[in-house]
Parts: sequence; structure tokens; C-alpha cells
Amino acid sequence: KKEEWAKLKDEATVTSDNQHVELVSNIGTPDDVAGVLNNGGEGVGLYRTEFLYMGKSQLPTEEEQFEAYKSVLSQMKDKPVVVRTLDIGGDKELDYLDLPDEMNPFLGFRAIRLCLERDDIFRTQLRALLRASVYGNLKIMFPMIATLDEFRQAKSILDEEKQNLQNEGTDVSDKIEVGIMVEIPATAVMAKQFAKEVDFFSIGTNDLIQYTMAADRMNERVSYLYQPYNPAILNLINNVIEASHAEGKWTGMCGEMAGDEIAIPILLGLGLDEFSMSSTSILPARTQILSLSKEEMASYKDEILSMGTSEEVVEFVKSKAALQ
Ligand code: PEP
Ligand code: MG
Repeated sequence: KKEEWAKLKDEATVTSDNQHVELVSNIGTPDDVAGVLNNGGEGVGLYRTEFLYMGKSQLPTEEEQFEAYKSVLSQMKDKPVVVRTLDIGGDKELDYLDLPDEMNPFLGFRAIRLCLERDDIFRTQLRALLRASVYGNLKIMFPMIATLDEFRQAKSILDEEKQNLQNEGTDVSDKIEVGIMVEIPATAVMAKQFAKEVDFFSIGTNDLIQYTMAADRMNERVSYLYQPYNPAILNLINNVIEASHAEGKWTGMCGEMAGDEIAIPILLGLGLDEFSMSSTSILPARTQILSLSKEEMASYKDEILSMGTSEEVVEFVKSKAALQ
């Protein structure tokens, strides 16, 4: 099997009916890029920048961040690199920020919420990203967006820093797409409104599932509710994809679900444009996608979205998509 996969390293990801989808990878550090390229990744769909901030005693400087972003972008050459701005909080803490303990960290002061209040931290990161943008194909993504207002604020801070850099005579790419993670149900419901303002969506199913089902993603006792194939989740995903396409925008997915062999045929049928996963999942996923017909999967869409339970969905997909 490994040899079969290796042959597909430099192949495009096209379905049996000749539809291309983007198969990209999640990374945490510049060292992960080698794995993406060795496994035939067509880009980076999620660069989790929080690792730059973790395991140290102070915030990373603009220069440190610039070097990391430049390294990832230049190694990836013209391939797309989606960099997520700081997503700290929940299960990821930073001791040196000295934030008060919270009763519900997953529902608390984290990610874009923290960045909009501590905009000194946010601006440093954005400046580093903007400066690095000339070394590759950068896309910037904001995490945990719950309202249009948050997106507009984040975007206007980005625009301000871009203007500042240009006034200082620093080159900044003028082709940077700016998108959001869809990992909060409100945002999935409001996708139509968001789609008019963002350049792209990336669905973060790890959090979207936990928030939709009200089941902590770290809590074993409620893990039975953590159901990627629950029609509630699939309908939210469908809403996001349809809304983006209606505005000529694209939708990716960077949660674990994107690399799951039962989810892949469903997501293909819903029209997902980009699948981002750990680099070791790329070749198995490409092998699977090559054998699937997008048109056929799309013909099951209404039936799947009307189903009542996760089990029904799984059984149906297994019967249609040649899975054991
Ligand atoms: C997600 O929520 O699906 C996601 C990709 O982000 P993280 O796992 O880093 O929270
Ligand atoms: Mg998340």
C-alpha cells in the first residue's frame, strides 16, 4: 500500500469524474514543511502559530515570528499557505500572559477575543506575517470568529498594519486572501452574511462539533456525543459551502474530519474545495479521492442531509463508497 501511495506523491488530486480538490496539510512549525512536501501536499491549509508562543517565558518577537513565517512560505514556494493567527486559550495556555482561571475555558477569553483586546500582541503577529507575505503565497485566517463585528475589527487592524508598513517603505504582497475559521455554530449559520466579506472559510470541525453538540472535546464521558457524521454537523457544513460558492468564495476544512475516510466521500459530495489534514493522511486520502465520483457523491447529498442519525449516515456511506 505504501508503494502505491508513493506513486501518487506528485499527482493532482482529481476524482474519477475529473474534478480537482485541493489536498493540503496542517502544520505546527517550519520543521513540519518537509513532511508536507514529502507526502505530496498541495499546500498548507492550517499553520497553527500558537506553538511559536508556547513553551517559553515571554511573547515571541516580531523578528522571531517573521523568520518562522518566511521559512514556511519560502519552502512552500508558490503553493498556498494558510496561516492562522494566535489561537490560545481553551486547552492551550500561556503562563506568562497571567490570565485569570476561567470556569469554562473553551467558552472563554481566547483566540480572536484575546487578540482584539490585547491588540499589541495581535499587531506584532500581523506585521510579521505581512512582512513575510512577499516570500510566498500567504493567506491569513482568524480563529474562533463568532460575529461579523469581530471579523471586521480584525480585518481593519490588519489593513492598518499593512498601511503602516507601506508608509515605512516595506513591501507587502497585495494578493493576500483573508478568511476565517468556522468553528462556532453561529458563524456556520451566518455563513451567507460572512461570505460577502471574507475571501474564504476553513471549517474547524474539532471545535465546531464540540460547540454544536455541547460536548467537551477532551471529556471521555461525553465522547459518544462527539459525532462528526451527525446530520446536524453535516447540515452546518453544507450551509457554509453553499454560502461560499454563492459568493464565488471557497471553503476548506482543517479539523480532523477532513482526513477521515467516511467523511471524505460526504464532503466531496457537499462540494468542499480544500481538505487539510496531517501530512501522513494525504496520500491515503488522495488514493481514496481518485476512486470516487464527485457527481455520484453529490447525488446523495439531499438524502444524507435529511437522515436522522449518525449511524444511518455511516451505513449509507459505507454501502456507496466501497468502504469496509
Ligand atoms: C478545529 O477546531 O477544528 C481546528 C482545526 O482547530 P484546533 O484543533 O487547533 O482547535
Ligand atoms: Mg479550533
